[in-house]
Amino acid sequence: MSAFIRTCLLSFCVIFIAACSSTPTKAPVLPQNQLARLKAMPLPKRLPMPVKNYSHFSDTWGEARSQGRRHEGVDIMAPRGTKVYSTTDGVVASLKGNNLGGTVVWIVGPGGAWHYYAHLNDHKRGLKEGDYVRQGDLIGYIGNTGNARHTAPHLHYGLYLNGKGRGAVNPYPYLR
Ligand SMILES: [Zn+2]
Repeated sequence: MSAFIRTCLLSFCVIFIAACSSTPTKAPVLPQNQLARLKAMPLPKRLPMPVKNYSHFSDTWGEARSQGRRHEGVDIMAPRGTKVYSTTDGVVASLKGNNLGGTVVWIVGPGGAWHYYAHLNDHKRGLKEGDYVRQGDLIGYIGNTGNARHTAPHLHYGLYLNGKGRGAVNPYPYLR
């Protein structure tokens, strides 16, 4: 085989493999047994702070936001790169980013509540949908992605009792 043909075949293989691996992968099926077990557990009345060395934290639930929105969560200010920990045991249900939240983590925990961690600089390396995390596990790092890009880095933490983005409640009394 000539060197030219070998090179061509090799290039073809590289392109073929690259094309295959860039095909969007389907979201993994979440572990239903773990979700059912979590749903049967009560959501604790108090949760640990998801950020240990924060600089500022106050109750900003319900404050006015752009386009007539209300603040559906609380903001925990901390320097970029500060570690963010899960407030509960749970299943990583989604890591899909969005315009407002930027880089985010959604975790389904006790009582079937959805916990939303937004404006992250990064996920914890290797974190993936379907992973089971324990309360206090590292999940990401503080940043200002999404619509926080012109503000100081902080964690936006949201708590939803009726599903992803549904049944928002004020997380402040849980964390105080
Ligand atoms: Zn916020």
